[in-house]
Amino acid sequence: MRYSQMFPKTLREAPKEAQTANHRLLVRAGFIDQLMAGSWTLLPLGWRVVSKITQIIREEMNRIGAQEMLMPLLHPKEIWNQTGRWDEADEVMYKLKDSRGKEFALSFTHEEIVMDLVRKFVRSYKDLPLNVYHFSTKFRNELRPQGGILRGREFLMKDAYSLHTSEEDLMEWYEKYKQAYLKIYERFGVKVYYTEAAGGVFTDKHTHEFQLEAESGEDTIYVNPGTKEAINKEVFAGEAKDYEVKRAIEVGNIFPLGKKYSEKMGALFINKDGNKKPIWFGSYGIGTTRNMGAIVEVCHDEKGIVWPRSVAPFQAYLVDLKDGEKVHQKLVGVGVDVLWDDRDVSAGQKFADADLIGIPVRLVVSEKTGDKIEWKERSGTKTELVSVEEVIKRLM
Ligand code: ATP
Ligand code: MG
Repeated sequence: MRYSQMFPKTLREAPKEAQTANHRLLVRAGFIDQLMAGSWTLLPLGWRVVSKITQIIREEMNRIGAQEMLMPLLHPKEIWNQTGRWDEADEVMYKLKDSRGKEFALSFTHEEIVMDLVRKFVRSYKDLPLNVYHFSTKFRNELRPQGGILRGREFLMKDAYSLHTSEEDLMEWYEKYKQAYLKIYERFGVKVYYTEAAGGVFTDKHTHEFQLEAESGEDTIYVNPGTKEAINKEVFAGEAKDYEVKRAIEVGNIFPLGKKYSEKMGALFINKDGNKKPIWFGSYGIGTTRNMGAIVEVCHDEKGIVWPRSVAPFQAYLVDLKDGEKVHQKLVGVGVDVLWDDRDVSAGQKFADADLIGIPVRLVVSEKTGDKIEWKERSGTKTELVSVEEVIKRLM
C-alpha cells in the first residue's frame, strides 16, 4: 500500500482535549476520528488493527467450539420487558419510537435476544451445551464518554453466550472461556490480571474481569502478589496492606449468569428424566475497539505507538528515500503486508511518521543502503543492513 494514497495522513497536533495516550496517538497517527463525544470512525489504519484483534478473538472462540453468528441491533421493547431490564437498565439504554409510536432500544448487550433464540430452538439436553457469539456494535448512554476510544457511546464488542444443562457444566465452560481469554491477551502481547468483580446490570453474582494495568485506567484493582489474581475495588473487602494497588483498564468481562434470564423468559430444556428445567446461562464480552486503545496505552513511547506484531496494521513500513519501488514489489510479491512511504516529503518527516504510526519494523532504502535494506524494529534502537531475502525471511 502506498502511503501517498492512504486516507488520511498523520496530523501535526493532537486534539487539545486529549488526556490519554490512545486519544492523542490514534488521532494524530490517523487511526480514528471523532464524530462527537464517544463516537468514532475507525479510519483505514484503525480498521486494520481492529480487524486483527477481531480475528485473534474469532480463532480462540472457534477453538473452544463457539459458533459465530450476527444478531440485530434494533430490539423491541417487549423483549426487554420480559426480564425487567427495560426499566432496570434505563440509564444505559438508548430508546426510541418509530412513526407509529412503537418503542425500541438500540442494543447495549444481547442476553435477551439469545434467550429468545434458545427458547425457539433448544428442546432437550441433547441440544446443550450451546455456545454462540458475534461481533457487533453496542450502544450505551455513557455519562462520561472519555479516554479516547476506551469508552464510547457506540463501540464494537465480541459477546459470547453459553447455555447449559447444569451449573457444573456452566462452570466448566466458564473456565474454558477464562483460558481462551488469557490466550487472546497473550496473543495481543499484553499482560492482564484476572479480577473478581461485581455484576452491574447483568447479575447479582460475582463476575470476572480481565484488567490491563495502566495509569489512565478508570478502575482500581488489588493484586495478590503471590497468585497475581486481583480483586476490583468495587467488591474488595479486606486488608489492603497485603495487596498491590493498581490502576487498570477493563478489557474483558465474563459473567456466570445462572438461571435468572431463562426462568424469566421461559427458556427451558427437557432433561434426561423428561422434566422441563431452566437453562444455565453465561455471557462473555471483549470490547474490540477498547482493546485497540488499551494496547496503545501500554505500547507507546514519546515518539508514537509501538504496535505488538500480532495486531499491527502492517508488518513493515518502507521508508523510500530512493528507488524503493522494486523492494516494495518484491515484498508484496511474496505476501508481505507493507506500507510504502513513497511521498515526496523530507526524510525527517518519513522517519517521524514511521515512529508515530508504530508499525513493528521500519525498512529504509536510500543512496546509502545500496542493494541492501536498513532494518530497524520500532521497539529497539539497533539498525542493520540486510538483503531483501533476509527481510522476507524475517517477516514471513
Ligand atoms: P465498564 O465497567 O468499563 O463500564 P462494563 O463492565 O459495562 O464496562 P461489559 O458490559 O462487561 O462492560 O462489556 C464487555 C466489554 O466491552 C468490556 O470489558 C469492555 O472491553 C467493553 N466495553 C464496555 N463498555 C464500553 C464502552 N463504553 N466503550 C468501549 N468498550 C466498552
Ligand atoms: Mg465492568
